[in-house]
Amino acid sequence: MSSDANNSQTESLDFIREIVKEDQTSGKHAQIVTRFPPEPNGYLHIGHAKAICLNFGIAKENQGICHLRFDDTNPIRESTEYVESIQEDVRWLGFDWKESRFFTSDYFEKLFGFAMQLIENGKAYVCDLSAEDFMRMRGTPTHAGEDSPFRERSVEENMDLFKKMREGVFEDGAKTLRAKIEMSAPNIQMRDPALYRIRRVHHHRTGDAWPIYPMYDFAHCLSDAVEGITHSLCTLEFEVHRPLYDWILQNVNLPEPLPRQIEFARLNLGYTVMSKRKLLQLVEDKHVSGWDDPRMPTVSGLRRRGVTSDSIRHFCKRIGITKYDGMTDIALLEHSIRNDLNKRALRVQGVLKPLKVVIENIPEDHFEELEAVNNPEDPDAGSRKLPFSREIYIDQDDFMEEAPKKFFRLKPEGEVRLRYAYILKCEKVIKDDEGNIVELRATIDPDSKRGGATSGRKVKGTIHWVSAQHAITAEVRLYERLFTVEQPDSGKDKKDYKDFLNPESLAVLEGCKLEPSLKEATQDTRYQFERVGYFCLDSKDTTPDKPVFNRTISLRDAWSKRK
Ligand code: ATP
Ligand code: MG
Repeated sequence: MSSDANNSQTESLDFIREIVKEDQTSGKHAQIVTRFPPEPNGYLHIGHAKAICLNFGIAKENQGICHLRFDDTNPIRESTEYVESIQEDVRWLGFDWKESRFFTSDYFEKLFGFAMQLIENGKAYVCDLSAEDFMRMRGTPTHAGEDSPFRERSVEENMDLFKKMREGVFEDGAKTLRAKIEMSAPNIQMRDPALYRIRRVHHHRTGDAWPIYPMYDFAHCLSDAVEGITHSLCTLEFEVHRPLYDWILQNVNLPEPLPRQIEFARLNLGYTVMSKRKLLQLVEDKHVSGWDDPRMPTVSGLRRRGVTSDSIRHFCKRIGITKYDGMTDIALLEHSIRNDLNKRALRVQGVLKPLKVVIENIPEDHFEELEAVNNPEDPDAGSRKLPFSREIYIDQDDFMEEAPKKFFRLKPEGEVRLRYAYILKCEKVIKDDEGNIVELRATIDPDSKRGGATSGRKVKGTIHWVSAQHAITAEVRLYERLFTVEQPDSGKDKKDYKDFLNPESLAVLEGCKLEPSLKEATQDTRYQFERVGYFCLDSKDTTPDKPVFNRTISLRDAWSKRK
């Protein structure tokens, strides 16, 4: 925290923050107003988090405000479920729109009025071309478009027809309202783009009041103007729309200063897809369990997986704001997640693949409690008592019958230190009829406990364990990347992103044995199962009988190797 605060004094501002600062100091705006404008047609993903951190961040840094505006002009794919989830996610990311929650649909009447102004000024006309003819006559980047035969309709006729469009007189697709700009403009966006289309569909907020809906390019700039947005920040693909953004604002009656659109590079993250359409398809085709499946790059998926909002904000800050599209290495995100969890996670012991060990040189009713540190990174986190008894579980991977030389965990006749406890020696391997190892018999060196006579005795390996009688049983879910290649949606070799789904992205382990302190695990607490990774309680599938833990991320190094 404090290092972030120190950094901000020396860090140079990104190009958008420079512009905002200039506009602030020159007195162009009394207050900076930004907006985050999601379309409620899906859950937010980490790319949106970048845009949220930018818009809300700039507002905060400049004592301004950031509006949350639902860009709900495309009723077919939108729903209130998405509105709710978006609000939850923005709040969880740590941002507050206060009173400023808006819907583009609230402006439908105003937008209609602006369209009428354009018509009156001879800057828009009703066009009867079919969608196919519209596209054909628009031309190509190298060939100018052709004027529509309806381009020279009189102002009166256009006003009359546009009103009738609103009254629902015409069929879907029968007419559009188009801006009258220039069919030979080099920028195709300026070739008389459509401003309104007829769609007699139900809207989740306005019901059946409107048979016509404004196009994004028309609605967005005017909504910005209506709300007094000073800087309208969007991703690079809108750069070619900027002349239209400015043209519309300049051709209706609006007070100065007009909002200014500035583009920045979207976040593309390796080993994932980021378009809502594709994420929706993964959900609908049941490749994942839902929008909040912990493998999804959605904010709700990351949250359920145990990623904190601090680490997402930290990641967004680190990647910065640029004008050039590129691919961000997923290792950067993983680094932010690990860094954050390392600081906050409580250290606990959890055995994912249990192997029973009976310690023969202590009595059956032996019970003692050993002191274990909760978090070496946080002195305030204190310590806890770990029960120790005659029967314990260790991980199957920590024992090898035919061990190679460099195997420093447990082997027949070998010794290993039990974390926070004694040195354990394997005396005997017990197998079932098929030759599978089912149990180990062992002894401890009673003087090897901390403070004991041989406590300083060194053995090469340290392993984790839990007391069999005291452990709780849990399901543990391990996640890998959802895709096997860095750019699943590159379209290379005509492959579909779904062809690259990782069949091993989820492993479910039943019957895992965890130390008893995890009985009191809460959803807000983060845990490090020592040597195994960072975990959190699953918010959805945990029941009183069966806790479910998600591995947020593995450890880079196991501490036993570092020692
Ligand atoms: P998608 O392409 O994933 O469907 P979208 O752009 O259609 O996303 P919107 O709801 O329109 O989704 O996005 C809201 C805001 O978030 C927009 O201002 C958009 O520029 C921004 N945004 C969307 N994706 C990214 C991304 N990958 N990186 C940064 N900003 C993004
Ligand atoms: Mg969009």
